[in-house]
Amino acid sequence: MKTRLAFLVRGAGRIPSPCCGKSMSVIGTRNRKSKKSSGESCVYSIRRLECDQCEKIHHELPDFLVPYKRYESECIEAVLSNPNHHDIPADESTLFRWFEWFHSLIDYWIGCLISIMHRTKQENIPLDLTSENPETALQRLGRLVGDAPGWLGRFVRPIVNINLWLHTRSAFLSELG
Ligand SMILES: [Zn+2]
Repeated sequence: MKTRLAFLVRGAGRIPSPCCGKSMSVIGTRNRKSKKSSGESCVYSIRRLECDQCEKIHHELPDFLVPYKRYESECIEAVLSNPNHHDIPADESTLFRWFEWFHSLIDYWIGCLISIMHRTKQENIPLDLTSENPETALQRLGRLVGDAPGWLGRFVRPIVNINLWLHTRSAFLSELG
């Protein structure tokens, strides 16, 4: 499979640093490879940002990427939304890891989202979103971020932006691989 040439990803607007909420400065770029639903690989040039307060390094996260995942959000979302009816060209072990990843972290993510909603003083925060609730993981998440296309990116980005995204072991290995 051919890899398409790199192009620069520019996030819209400035976000506060995930570590302390201060401004960040661009200090360079880093290449990030990812796979599209067509199976094609792309290399994106992602900005490296440094917190002006504590000098921690962060990487810009475009809407279509999930940290430490090689496939673009739309691929993972298509598989999770339609386990039996998708056309994503990923092997069985990759698909299995996505389900495992999703189901092992869903309660953590829901906790993060509810914490964000409290911090930002949102109203109508659902109270019964624990795993004892008979709804499926997707339904519970859908009550927080909606179930329209793009739901994966809608919960990933806010969690990354406040520095609560977990670096799971398998995700770490897949980035090295
Ligand atoms: Zn900082």
